[in-house]
Amino acid sequence: MIDEEPVTVHRASDGPGLYAVFGQPIAHSLSPRIHAAFARDLSIALEYRAIEASAEDFVGALAAFADRGGLGANVTLPLKQHAARLCLSVSERARQADSVNTLVRRGEGWHGESTDGVGLIRDITGRHGLYVRGRRTLLLGAGGAARAVAFALLDAGISELTIANRTPERADALADAIGKPEGVHTRYWSDLGQWGSFDLIVNATSAGHGRMSLALPPSLMAPRAVCYDLSYGRASFGFLAWARSAGASHAVDGLGMLVEQAAEAFEVWHGRRPETDAIYAELRAYLPGDAED
Ligand code: NAP
Repeated sequence: MIDEEPVTVHRASDGPGLYAVFGQPIAHSLSPRIHAAFARDLSIALEYRAIEASAEDFVGALAAFADRGGLGANVTLPLKQHAARLCLSVSERARQADSVNTLVRRGEGWHGESTDGVGLIRDITGRHGLYVRGRRTLLLGAGGAARAVAFALLDAGISELTIANRTPERADALADAIGKPEGVHTRYWSDLGQWGSFDLIVNATSAGHGRMSLALPPSLMAPRAVCYDLSYGRASFGFLAWARSAGASHAVDGLGMLVEQAAEAFEVWHGRRPETDAIYAELRAYLPGDAED
């Protein structure tokens, strides 16, 4: 388990509140920088660490964090479903999705919340000015983030959801959890060429982190389709390059979602919603562009 140097902001006399993000890999997480910027803007004292934890380490690492006085944590790849299991209580959104990305200390235990879905919808509709209502949607992946965004996309009014995952049982489990057989379908990855075409394609796989190609055919793209990759930076380059070459009208990475889900988490912890545009612009300038390797 690697404990990264904390970002410390505005030390108050009784010490800053302790927060963290858990995941693996975590060393390059932008969350400490985002929460530091929010805290600075709103003059809230906090320490926010990035803590590397595998699925096996997570329970122990979170207990050690609670012992040190940890008040709240974000949880990322691959821990969101594990986090849902160890909460004493969860929000309705987190329960539906069986996915927790935000933990809040309540007494002796953790309360779990899921802010990924609302972060995605805020970014697509608010920042990028795109609509989702009525779109035939393909969701690639069925992990913790995919589960959260599936419910949010349906709530936002997509007309139909097709879910495809490398491990088909997880796609089926997600479709079963949603429970709308008339509007939600699953497809085998091996039948990729026969899935039809879609107006919105959301990549919620982590394939890009390992530079793995999803080998998608251009036939998936309906005219004027929007493509969204939950990942950002180099991990998103492969999918976004495919989207552009296959004729997407918009190919968007998940940087804005990252900032928006963080703002939601910040509000859960501190009761105040930060502005997101400045830190989004700062991170956009800092991240490598598509032209770079
Ligand atoms: P996760 O729970 O570990 O799920 C990973 C998903 O990716 C699973 O569906 C997995 O399929 C699939 N996958 C992994 N490697 C693959 C490959 N080579 N080919 C095809 N599918 C593959 O992770 P997560 O928390 O859901 O995160 C998923 C992605 O979303 C990550 O890139 C993460 O960085 C991003 N994300 C971004 C934000 C944001 O705010 N922008 C928020 C959350 C997540 P199997 O089920 O077959 O293993």
